[in-house]
Amino acid sequence: MSGADVKPGRLTQEQIAANFADMHPPLTPSEAIIDADRCYFCYDAPCTTACPTGIDIPGFIQKIRSGNLKGSAHTILSENIMGGMCARVCPTEVLCEQACVRNTHEDRPVRIGLLQRHATDAVVRDNTQLFQRAPATGRTVAIVGGGPAGLSCAHRLAMLGHHAIVFEPKDKPGGLNEYGIAAYKTLDDFAAREVEYILGIGGIEMRAGTALGRHISLRELREQYDAVFLGFGLAGVNGLGLEHEQLEGVANAVDYIAELRQAPDKAKLPVGRRVVVIGGGMTAIDIAVQSKALGAAEVTMVYRRGQEQMKASRYEQEFAQTRGVNLRCWSRPRRLLVDGARVRGVEFESTSTPGETYTLDADVVFKAIGQKVSWERLAGTGELLEIREARIAVDEERRTSLSGVWAGGDCVYGGEDLTVSAVQDGKLAALSIDRFLRGA
Ligand SMILES: Cc1cc2nc3c(=O)[nH]c(=O)nc-3n(C[C@H](O)[C@H](O)[C@H](O)COP(=O)(O)OP(=O)(O)OC[C@H]3O[C@@H](n4cnc5c(N)ncnc54)[C@H](O)[C@@H]3O)c2cc1C
Ligand code: SF4
Repeated sequence: MSGADVKPGRLTQEQIAANFADMHPPLTPSEAIIDADRCYFCYDAPCTTACPTGIDIPGFIQKIRSGNLKGSAHTILSENIMGGMCARVCPTEVLCEQACVRNTHEDRPVRIGLLQRHATDAVVRDNTQLFQRAPATGRTVAIVGGGPAGLSCAHRLAMLGHHAIVFEPKDKPGGLNEYGIAAYKTLDDFAAREVEYILGIGGIEMRAGTALGRHISLRELREQYDAVFLGFGLAGVNGLGLEHEQLEGVANAVDYIAELRQAPDKAKLPVGRRVVVIGGGMTAIDIAVQSKALGAAEVTMVYRRGQEQMKASRYEQEFAQTRGVNLRCWSRPRRLLVDGARVRGVEFESTSTPGETYTLDADVVFKAIGQKVSWERLAGTGELLEIREARIAVDEERRTSLSGVWAGGDCVYGGEDLTVSAVQDGKLAALSIDRFLRGA
């Protein structure tokens, strides 16, 4: 991006460092013990039921209490190998912590996310391998996509003695953990360290620079491997359907976020003075907050319905507002306003009062109205599978309609589009693949 009101260096290095500091700093050991002591160790714990990966939460908290951090990490990672990342990025306020019975007694849940981070950080930092491979089965599974779904599947298969080959177009594995999650949620290259931890079990081979559809087809994978898992996420971005969308100053939020996550020096990233974000989900919140954190003077997030309907949780909405982001609801973009070859604003129309319009000036307009499977780049893959609402249909074991092919994560129909759900999908698929390969 370039242009008069789009430039790098709006803030000093110190300001940027402060704005991108850890959103939820880790607990000290004594804070962790105090919080662990607040747990009632409920029977049939509602927090565990609310966790998409079914982590035994009272079990791991009990181990923190008794000083057994490694055991605690084992309890977490045996259900969710990305327990470290999920501790940082899960919307706990609508999952385990919402279900915590401490809410009714004290209006404040046990800080499960932070305790989970406390338990897992040292294991990942020191690459302490807590799981071994079962004796090799001689079976090889192709995994398409090295994101949370693919890596979770690969790790579980490795634990079960199978060999996994991960086909990934990007240089770095990790999927959106590496390229998408907001920078203040995952610091110090944690995503890469976690991938290293996952690969540390052995038996997982990464084939970087290899894309399904471009370098290999589903038909070939089915012929060459004992089973296939599809976890290629959502590589396409929804458009606004307006004229001038290709002009300078109009960008996909996910592309800019990826650039930001990979930037060695954030102060060098060009930032608009006035930024308009169109969308109401996590991506919209993240691009809005991060634009502000990079020094944009005015950031407005515009959503077509009300705050209640936003996909981003109330907590995230409030987080954005406290970081200086303006929220405007019940509006949809009607026209991109242009000045020569670049955008200068957006005309919106009210979705609650027909005919009412208003204009927001903008140096940059970010599109954040959702991602989709990029079927056109998958060379006929979609024709072989049953598709529902443009995503892959799977059963409860994450089997697709095609024999020997499983799928999980964002690319399947009916999921939550969360890191933790992708990890669970990968795990369930691996268990199902294992049963299939053993003929059980
Ligand atoms: C900006 C943003 C912020 C988010 N923040 C959060 C958050 O805070 N908390 C949370 O829980 N969730 C968050 N999410 C959602 C979460 O990141 C996803 O649900 C999760 O990453 C899905 O995992 P996945 O493995 O299915 O897909 P991905 O993470 O997208 O991984 C898919 C992998 O497949 C690869 N791939 C793509 N095409 C091909 C191909 N043709 N062949 C082979 N490989 C291919 C990709 O390069 C990628 O590595 C966020 C999403 C976005 C976009
Ligand atoms: S619901 Fe809360 S108090 Fe009960 S086991 Fe879970 S974390 Fe502990």
